[in-house]
Amino acid sequence: KKHYQEEFEEKFDLPHLKDVLDVQPIPTTFALKSRGSQVLDGTNLSTKRSDYVDNDDRALLKVIKYSSPTSAGAECIDPDCSWVEQWVHRAGPRKQIFFDPKDVKAAIVTCGGLCPGLNDVIRQIVFTLEIYGVGEIVGIPFGYRGFFDGNLQEIPLSRHVVQNINLSGGSFLGTSRGGASVGDIVDSIEAREIDMLFVLGGNGTHAGANAIHNECRRRKLRISVVCVPKTIDNDILLMDKTFGFDTAVEEAQRAINSAYIEARSAYHGVGLVKLMGRSSGFIAMYASLSSGQVDVCLIPEVPFKLDGPFGVLEHLEHLIKSKGYAVVCVAEGAGQELIEKPDAKDASGNVVLGTSASTSSRRSCTAEFCLAPIWIKRHFKEVGFFADVKYIDPTYMIRACRANASDAILCTVLGQNAVHGAFAGFSGITVGICNTHYVYLPITEVIASTRQVDPKSRMWHRCLTSTGQPDFM
Ligand code: ATP
Ligand code: MG
Repeated sequence: KKHYQEEFEEKFDLPHLKDVLDVQPIPTTFALKSRGSQVLDGTNLSTKRSDYVDNDDRALLKVIKYSSPTSAGAECIDPDCSWVEQWVHRAGPRKQIFFDPKDVKAAIVTCGGLCPGLNDVIRQIVFTLEIYGVGEIVGIPFGYRGFFDGNLQEIPLSRHVVQNINLSGGSFLGTSRGGASVGDIVDSIEAREIDMLFVLGGNGTHAGANAIHNECRRRKLRISVVCVPKTIDNDILLMDKTFGFDTAVEEAQRAINSAYIEARSAYHGVGLVKLMGRSSGFIAMYASLSSGQVDVCLIPEVPFKLDGPFGVLEHLEHLIKSKGYAVVCVAEGAGQELIEKPDAKDASGNVVLGTSASTSSRRSCTAEFCLAPIWIKRHFKEVGFFADVKYIDPTYMIRACRANASDAILCTVLGQNAVHGAFAGFSGITVGICNTHYVYLPITEVIASTRQVDPKSRMWHRCLTSTGQPDFM
């Protein structure tokens, strides 16, 4: 048997307020089982409860043992591919906390694009803060903008206010891109006397939250900044999945099925569905796998060519001739290397993907074919063939959905654990599910790069087996 403490490799130390401030722990007041409206006194609870999480508890990051580098493939985590145990901090309520709940003002902010489950997370953060005994909880409207736009007012939050917000999609607090300098945001946090900031957002938002955390440390402020990753694309490193992804894949089925019906019912029909995924093709891959109706799946991680032998268009022609129709699922960022880059950025500094239909060369236009079915038709006309292309972009319908059952549960656990993390005194962390366990990770680790589909992974190969598509290069 392995020893619990000795033989594992510690991974990802979490930044804690006590690293930089003189803060003392107090017994928790979190009542794991509330009794009606009575808030239980933590001193009575602590001796009876064994279900607090200890700061030394760890979850194993990966549970697989490879026999050789060949079988490990890209998964290999050390040069010899020997067994490396990496342990990360378990999330959950601590016996000792670093904030007195009655003195806490907590704020929640949501940034970036919409994602199913945002309201579920907001709701659970509010519920859990109340169970700890926090009296002042506010929502910052419209992302980081709410910190500096004088026309926007804080939204008071309570169980009563958020009780039913999970029944609809979107963000109850509103969201936005772009924003002020980190210094201005921290000025605003200080002026509002916020002690805990819960930040829901993607990579950009996490980078912002980490900068806020660092600025708070520089100013020696006793403020905890805790993130909950929001990315419908599932592109955050290390995590099994992020909330909203399951719902997105499920909703995408409806679009794919419609594309199939349109294609199947038309003479030489092609059903084309564009799904989210600027740089990671997880939604397109999983939706293609689960629907079973997709003949061609194109993702940003796997280059392809359109024209000529072994190109996508030749394969579509083959599919139409052999079975009468074709269904294509394209991730938003697929084939970017074929497109003339507009070199533009949005309000948050994200690269704007090539979408212009005004380009003149045949090559750049066909490369955008996920946005311009006209080019597929034109191609077939040129080679004396006919195809009837139906194009579906369900992006905004998917983003605006409410979370499905499995995402709602994920959101519940993440929201609750975010609050536990803040009370435990951590700051500059994010919460996630790794290897089926709920854990805390330093923000810096999850935003080091974008998580992408590995073209050599078994999952992508399963997808290719399912669609039956060739290698388009
Ligand atoms: P999505 O997945 O929808 O793109 P996101 O969180 O990445 O979500 P962004 O619009 O990129 O969304 O960023 C959200 C907020 O984070 C914006 O207000 C932006 O100003 C801020 N932000 C982005 N990158 C940084 C950064 N490197 N440092 C500080 N703030 C940032
Ligand atoms: Mg972003």
